[in-house]
Amino acid sequence: MKVGILGGGQLARMLILASPHLECEVRVYAPPGENSVEGLCPITRKKFDDSEGLREFISSCDRVTYEWENISIPELRAALEGVSERLFPSLKVLELVSNRYTQKKIFTTHGIPTAEFSFIQQASELEPSVLKIGVPGILKTCREGYDGKGQKVIRKPEELSSAWSELGGVPLIYEKFIKFERELSLVACRNARGEMRFYPLVENLHVNGILRRTLAPAPGLSTQLQQTAQGYAKKIGELLQYVGVMALELFETGGKLLINEMASRVHNTGHWTLDGAETSQFENHLRAGLEVPLGDTAPKGYTAMLNFIGEVPTLAVEELKREGVFVHLYGKKPRLNRKVGHLNITADSPEALFKKLKVLEPKIIDQALQLLPSREEGF
Ligand code: AMP
Repeated sequence: MKVGILGGGQLARMLILASPHLECEVRVYAPPGENSVEGLCPITRKKFDDSEGLREFISSCDRVTYEWENISIPELRAALEGVSERLFPSLKVLELVSNRYTQKKIFTTHGIPTAEFSFIQQASELEPSVLKIGVPGILKTCREGYDGKGQKVIRKPEELSSAWSELGGVPLIYEKFIKFERELSLVACRNARGEMRFYPLVENLHVNGILRRTLAPAPGLSTQLQQTAQGYAKKIGELLQYVGVMALELFETGGKLLINEMASRVHNTGHWTLDGAETSQFENHLRAGLEVPLGDTAPKGYTAMLNFIGEVPTLAVEELKREGVFVHLYGKKPRLNRKVGHLNITADSPEALFKKLKVLEPKIIDQALQLLPSREEGF
């Protein structure tokens, strides 16, 4: 089977590296310029708005998936004409999930709790929304927001007009600011037969909207919380006839789980599965698309994932040679706030994990934060 991946970033890289476990040949479609998949598989270097290029690429694949939601839908739809069943997750899923408003509508229509929000298409709708929902709140662009981009926290109504011009006058949602206890996420995988596998809920730490650390499983995780999150994923999976990995980002607040957003692809908060679970999220995504049985999602022990942001930190060889320390680099040049790699640290008890984390985390997180313009700003 020939599997095409739209996008050539780190997620494509890790999908390719999982492919030898399965009988498939992988190829990538990525815009010209730097990518993270050089030398790993054949690459078609064309833009995403080139529907002829896309069509040619898709016609050379049995199955096609994507590592990025911000692909222009009209061009992709044109390129998929007559062969739309090759894409997983489907075009309908991509269309709904790549827009925050349509995403949130799915959650509210189907009883999945989420932060109160309102849809804003023009400047005149801003003030009534803020009056209805209150401050603080967050303005978010409906499309192309990731890693905290396309967002503005509103603390006073006077901040609205500058926020509107800053975010570019595009469709937005205004959302209630949630004083959550912690952020969790659920990575799940579904195949065309409706079978689902769930990784344990993990705890995520974001700084300025960018993921820094994941702890897997989430400390103190209860069966009830896990079941609630799985219930959300099952509902969404059935509703969208979903095929592949999905990630639900959640806020835990007062014993409740609110969904913040979902991603219809493999996800940064699932990178720990590379070394900490029986089957990685990358392999399971391919398994779902190739219609081979899904792999075991059980954790092997306790894992922490630390992102390298901006640049790869200098770590001593002795530190990296520790048992249960795994470095993953994406082959990207250093740049402010860019994800350039990550470290997985595994242990067979929470105590052993925190012992290792105490040594390694300050070398990675602090170094990365020095690159940020302001640690206080944002969330
Ligand atoms: P997002 O792009 O929606 O995932 O937002 C990035 C990060 O911003 C989240 O992981 C949270 O840390 C924070 N955030 C987003 N929405 C809210 C909200 N409604 N209330 C509080 N924090 C939020």
